[in-house]
Amino acid sequence: MTRDGTVRHVVRGTAPTVGAAVHGVVDWTRRFDHMQQHTGQHLLSAVIEHAFKARTVSFHLGASSSTIDIDRELSAADIARAEAESNRVIWQDLPVSIRYATEEEARALPLRKESARTGTLRLIDIESTDLSACGGTHVARTGMIGQLLIASWERFKGGQRIEFLCGGRALARAQQLRDVMSASIRLLSVIPTELPSAIERMQQEAKDRKLALAAAQIELATHEGAALAASAEPLGAIAAVLRVAEGDANRLKALASAIAQRSGVLATLVSASRPSLAVAARASDVSLSCQDLIAAIAGEFGGRGGGRPDMAQCGNLQADPTRVLDFARSWIERGGPPRSPLTPDA
Ligand SMILES: [Zn+2]
Repeated sequence: MTRDGTVRHVVRGTAPTVGAAVHGVVDWTRRFDHMQQHTGQHLLSAVIEHAFKARTVSFHLGASSSTIDIDRELSAADIARAEAESNRVIWQDLPVSIRYATEEEARALPLRKESARTGTLRLIDIESTDLSACGGTHVARTGMIGQLLIASWERFKGGQRIEFLCGGRALARAQQLRDVMSASIRLLSVIPTELPSAIERMQQEAKDRKLALAAAQIELATHEGAALAASAEPLGAIAAVLRVAEGDANRLKALASAIAQRSGVLATLVSASRPSLAVAARASDVSLSCQDLIAAIAGEFGGRGGGRPDMAQCGNLQADPTRVLDFARSWIERGGPPRSPLTPDA
């Protein structure tokens, strides 16, 4: 790293003593990778600017992939063209040279981006392709970039963020995609080009199965409901079905409404899962309000819910299902909410 014009080396472990001779070694694999990504960034930005008049406003060279942010959005076809053109320049193996210019001289040069630096500028010149001021590490010829792969793109701050990989990273990504693709096509027994349609078909089949299952559950609830309705116990002026039932809100509602098909019956179902769920439904000739019953249950056990006089539900009940049913039984037996002695009957 550099600070105040001096180059500083960050060391791991104990620092050498002042005056000691040290032997520095460049981690070439890492350095070469950085050179490939960095030069690739110059190249991609230049190609996009020349071909599509889109300027690179910022870039990020990351540990696994790099991005450039451009000031407008390109179509998928334009991105494919930029990628092809970048690789064409790579395979032309053009020289990448370093030259120096004063601020004054630089002003007269066709730099891709104006430099904010003062004093002598270090310019990176990709022959007949790009001229930029940059202090980074770069390869000596475009061929050393190897290849440039655009991995993804997304809308970003009114423009676009393009993710790219060069050299060995592009190869590693291609290998990773090949492995994922191989595993996927093996699982689905298709060839790669058939993968999207195979997934689409599976999604449609899953949707169809879900609909069929929902219809079967309603059908099942109808039969179960009829059997439960037959076991209704006389309670006050009506017949009541009070049961603990397995299932989610949809199943409990379907079941309660199936039970309530039988005249004179009020069904109260409470789920076995905790916190429990209560559903009440009544036959059309029952006058007790399911809404009032559920409100009383919610008031007693701390749940939340609502509904209509003929069907209501509440969830999040912090109580044992049998306690909820006992409460419902006495409420129904009493014939509904207690009447205040101060309120005359209507
Ligand atoms: Zn650079």
